[in-house]
Amino acid sequence: MNKIILASNNKNKIKEIKEMLPNMEVLSLNDIGFLDDIVEDGLTFSENALIKARATKVFINSKNIKAWILSDDSGLCVKALNNEPGIYSARYAGNHNDQANRDKLLNELKNKSNRDAFFMCSMALISPNGEEHIFNGKVEGKILDKETGSNGFGYDCLFYSTDLNKCFGLCSQQEKASVSHRGRALKQVVEFLSNI
Ligand code: IMP
Repeated sequence: MNKIILASNNKNKIKEIKEMLPNMEVLSLNDIGFLDDIVEDGLTFSENALIKARATKVFINSKNIKAWILSDDSGLCVKALNNEPGIYSARYAGNHNDQANRDKLLNELKNKSNRDAFFMCSMALISPNGEEHIFNGKVEGKILDKETGSNGFGYDCLFYSTDLNKCFGLCSQQEKASVSHRGRALKQVVEFLSNI
């Protein structure tokens, strides 16, 4: 079975994940008509990924849809801020506004010399018969003191990847995916799916 539902409506994530799963029919929550808000009240990335995947599983079971489900929960952890914003990355400045989030981050780091940070991604995969699997990916880097480039989304234009020696805001999607938290988690998912 090569149908997979991404438990997300985040266009940027869907675009990144679709590119990495060229052999699968990838559907979003909108595509399957699941329009409810999923309350992500877990305390870790993997708990939140599972919450989204399980809610989607309940929905597709009720519609008799047979498919794999993949969800992604991700965020930025900044060492000098006790790993904040972490699971609250999307809502760091109160609402989901990437510019406000980045402005807040730069402000919080104004007097900090340690700019070390990492992106984390947990992916939950649920098989058509309900088995659950978790895959994690991480990428290390530093927070720049000003926005650089306009590629990507979220905190990308502030994140200098120490793997690529380049800000994610200046990277092509392929370059970013080769080292990114999401790329690394998804590589494991692809490997897992190719072995079943
Ligand atoms: P989620 O949709 O709850 O997983 O929220 C993830 C949030 O973390 C996004 O809205 C971004 O603010 C941030 N984030 C996660 N992955 C990335 C990335 O690859 N680049 C930039 N920001 C990211």
